[in-house]
Amino acid sequence: METTMAFKELDTQSWQVLDRAHYLHPSTDHASLRQTGARVAAHAEGIYVWDTDGERLIDGLSGLGNVNIGYGRKELVDAAAAQMLELSYCQSFFKTTHRAAISLAEKLTSMLPGHLNHVFFQSSGSEANETGTRLARRYWDLLGKPEKRIFIARELAYHGSSHMAASLSGIWPMHKAGGDLPLSNVTHIKTAYQYRNGFGMDADAFGVLAASWLEDKILEIGADNIAAFVAEPAQSAGGAICPPMTYWPEIQRICKKYDILLIVDEVVMGFGRTGEWFGCYKYGIEPDIMQVGKAITSGYLPLSGTIISDRVADVLIDQGGAWDHGYTYSGHPACCAVALENIRILDEEGIVENAGKELAPYFQAKLDAFADHPLIGDIRYVGLMGGLEIVKDKASREAYAYEAHIGDFCSAEALKRGLALRANGDTMSLMPPLITTKAQMDEIFDITREALDATAKHYG
Ligand code: PLP
Repeated sequence: METTMAFKELDTQSWQVLDRAHYLHPSTDHASLRQTGARVAAHAEGIYVWDTDGERLIDGLSGLGNVNIGYGRKELVDAAAAQMLELSYCQSFFKTTHRAAISLAEKLTSMLPGHLNHVFFQSSGSEANETGTRLARRYWDLLGKPEKRIFIARELAYHGSSHMAASLSGIWPMHKAGGDLPLSNVTHIKTAYQYRNGFGMDADAFGVLAASWLEDKILEIGADNIAAFVAEPAQSAGGAICPPMTYWPEIQRICKKYDILLIVDEVVMGFGRTGEWFGCYKYGIEPDIMQVGKAITSGYLPLSGTIISDRVADVLIDQGGAWDHGYTYSGHPACCAVALENIRILDEEGIVENAGKELAPYFQAKLDAFADHPLIGDIRYVGLMGGLEIVKDKASREAYAYEAHIGDFCSAEALKRGLALRANGDTMSLMPPLITTKAQMDEIFDITREALDATAKHYG
């Protein structure tokens, strides 16, 4: 067997040959990958990633919305190394615990509203959604209401790739990716996507209307059959869909009125993306269960948390007996130590505060400047998440045919010019790291405009 050191001597093409031969990538058209080859990332620093040919790329997506603190922070590496030397692994199944997980659970709950006092750890956002939904079912079972088993989620939602998380997701091709999805106890409602679902309406009135779609669904199915409503504070993978401020208070009121749990997926929004520490603060949401992941470690190690209110935890603890749910890597010591260090830096260096107060207004003004672009029909943002929706005709809002793949064309044009952004359908999404400077922001948007101009020329 060749050693890792031997691999380091290969040139880019040889890496690509091995990649094609052995490595199946997540959410990828492998036939297309075989033709183009993959970019081979080599090292990264701040907001930049270099490939094995020495080309520099601006990471306008913060990895996958997780590298909020930027690449190459030695403190996080040191925290992982120190923890691994001291206690490299510890299971928490059999009345055993360790200081890193306890400290992180305490830290997280101290950052959140007072009723959110308990944390269950996993490695990914998908797993966090499994935990949250299993727990909701368990809660109603223990209260003698097992018929409360249906989950209501939203169109264009993204909650992950396991069976339940993919079922909750409302991006329909995901259901075809395998496994008779969605599961029979998941249903979807329209989302707070004003450009497509309430164009021309007053934003506040639209927020109330969009929330009423939840009430309609509850009345259709019967509250006695519903376990929970599951939603992201704002939707990232669905195409930067940001609700009006009237939406969430209404959703909260409806969940309370019909006694259904509110599960809020903060896997992307948590740890500063909205310009607040959590989307819950931005939109004034009080969830019964809340998922965090991704930027909890800024992507240095995998970790997610399911944060559980006293209401749910008390039933589980007092009446539940053993709850047979858990993962080998629940509360992995090194991941917890890195999360603690990441949160310390985000806080002490004022990174989240600066993102909300200084950077987000700058970012959003830059996005607004695309109103004049012939391809851009809608501009959406919250904090440091933004989307520019490409349309064929601005007046009628007609989209390009799916087969035109105009979003993919535009993201490829940006990549050629050294910027990673993402096409969520025909919405060009940006989620730069929270440490991006204004000068770097200028560069990001200069390239975005060049990519859009090239796209307009090609399709015009
Ligand atoms: N929830 C949301 C809102 C996400 O955006 C994602 C991933 O992008 C997930 C859950 C799934 O997280 P993971 O990929 O870590 O399983």
